[in-house]
Amino acid sequence: MKKFLSPLLDLVYPKKCPGCQIPSQGICEDCNRFWQEPPIAYILNQNNVSVISVAQYRNEVRSVLLAYKENGEREAGKILIEALLKARLQIASDSVCTLVPIPSNLKSIRRRGRDFMMELCTQVSIQSGDKVLSILRVNRNVKDQSNLDEKQRSQNLVGAFDCVSKNLHLAQSSPVILVDDLLTTGATLREAIRALGQRGLLPLGAITAAHTGLSRRK
Ligand SMILES: [Zn+2]
Repeated sequence: MKKFLSPLLDLVYPKKCPGCQIPSQGICEDCNRFWQEPPIAYILNQNNVSVISVAQYRNEVRSVLLAYKENGEREAGKILIEALLKARLQIASDSVCTLVPIPSNLKSIRRRGRDFMMELCTQVSIQSGDKVLSILRVNRNVKDQSNLDEKQRSQNLVGAFDCVSKNLHLAQSSPVILVDDLLTTGATLREAIRALGQRGLLPLGAITAAHTGLSRRK
């Protein structure tokens, strides 16, 4: 039945590349190249936490991030899971870690009807064997970051996250890896590190699917 329906569904919802929208079964070859670059390591100048990231940010990469974040497109999700897994394996590949997703604010979670970072972490953990622990919360309204410069972003985010104590003991038993979709100025990850630090946790590292790649040191 599925086999019979599939061509019909393709007529109603033609398959397209989530990066550039050309008709394609999944991501097209050109867009896929951006996700096959070797992961890059950044060092956050706060506790020297290293961030491993895969794709350099550009329009085609942005489209994939948005397609998954806003619409939950399956093909886009597959690319992000693969990228995060690749980054994950560059950090302590032989030990079980705890993946801690960077939280979205409640308003966004309600609007989307889902928590996309949690979904991505869960999918990565199935393949990596890690645990997932959602211990960070957004504790106040944070302005949209997109029009802010680096300094404004940092100020906008200071004190924005809380580390909840429920299940905290689980995060103390294995190294913590922070997970986010995009690394821009590093302000979000720095705030997450600050919030974890208040509970005595220092992450082993962080991974993001994409990075704006402005400089190697963040
Ligand atoms: Zn494409």
